[in-house]
Amino acid sequence: MTLLERDPQAPAAWRGNLPVTSRYTYGIAGEKFFRALKDEGKIMGAECPTCGITYVPARAFCERCLSELTEWTDVGLVGELHTFTLVFVDYDGRPLYEPELVGFVSFGDGGIVHKLEADPDTLEIGMKMEAVLKPKTKRTGSILDIQHFKPVK
Ligand SMILES: [Zn+2]
Repeated sequence: MTLLERDPQAPAAWRGNLPVTSRYTYGIAGEKFFRALKDEGKIMGAECPTCGITYVPARAFCERCLSELTEWTDVGLVGELHTFTLVFVDYDGRPLYEPELVGFVSFGDGGIVHKLEADPDTLEIGMKMEAVLKPKTKRTGSILDIQHFKPVK
């Protein structure tokens, strides 16, 4: 087929590989956040003294007023369930053998999306959810240092 014979509205694809080598870093705030999670088992937030917003995960600057956020606080391991869903495919779109329960657990004015360990029929928006951490010797400084969130009994 020539270019003139090709339907210009048809989707096009080129098969091949791109040799990409890159390294993603957490940045200054992410490094501090994940180090506290790994070493101390703490979820840290950062409060903006101007806006009064508590960012979780903590960050270096306020997105509203651009103030540097230097006041970091331990927000604890218990947040509130903001929303949840069952996930039936993985990140690549492949069907999961069993669906996974995922939710957004809010802390301060932010929160964390993570796996939930619960019967979905027993979950209620606003209920208290606790982060279950890996044992300290197994933590690597990643969001997966939190194994999942479970309802507080
Ligand atoms: Zn602010």
